[in-house]
Amino acid sequence: MEGLETYEERFRQVRENIRGAAERAGRDPEEITLLPVTKTQPVEVLEAAWQLGMRVAGENHVQEIAEKKKHFGDRIRFHMIGHLQRNKVRQVLDKVELIHSVDSLRLARDIDRIGEEMGLCPKILIEVNVAKEASKYGITVEELPETLEELSHFSHLRVEGLMTIAPFVENPEENRPVFRALRQLFVDNRENPFHNIEMNVLSMGMTNDYQVAIEEGATLVRIGTALFGARQYTTA
Ligand SMILES: *Cc1c(COP(=O)(O)O)cnc(C)c1O
Repeated sequence: MEGLETYEERFRQVRENIRGAAERAGRDPEEITLLPVTKTQPVEVLEAAWQLGMRVAGENHVQEIAEKKKHFGDRIRFHMIGHLQRNKVRQVLDKVELIHSVDSLRLARDIDRIGEEMGLCPKILIEVNVAKEASKYGITVEELPETLEELSHFSHLRVEGLMTIAPFVENPEENRPVFRALRQLFVDNRENPFHNIEMNVLSMGMTNDYQVAIEEGATLVRIGTALFGARQYTTA
């Protein structure tokens, strides 16, 4: 773990970059939410970030969310950003503020059903595989209208917007068309007749490409490495 000053400096730098990108695009920096991604980081690192004002964090494993939630209680609001297995839905619904990674209608149906059983109305984003990468989850651009129509019949979930994970590229400019395409979908679906579907959150951009994503309209960026350094994956 690094010293507090290191994290402080990285948060400052990322916030400055967010502001710069917003200003280049003529946007208000206040419209953009920074979601620090704390997956694989130990609670000590989250505690340090909490001291620096972090109150929301992205995680990609249900078990890790459960453990960190146990430690932090309501001090940190967690977002689920990783692929959610259908048999883990029940464990996660009451522990997260937003699920970014709803990547199939089947998963949404389970969330709705279990949400009803648990007396919850979970907030979700629809994950769109804009670049059509075989290795990535998400519905296709073409499937979105039909998916939204189906989701409008569900009474125990609330769609808050869209999310994508852009390809890993050397030059972030290569992802500009991906971000632009998702933003267009977001705008096109803003006016829709469905009571439980809103387009408030456009979750796109990570360490390598968040500035381009903001220039193209992201309202939330998910950033791990730039804040916490390279992740160490240990096999426990
Ligand atoms: C890990 C992860 C991130 C953060 O990635 P960095 O490149 O470390 O910023 C963002 N989004 C998702 C879905 C992730 O799994």
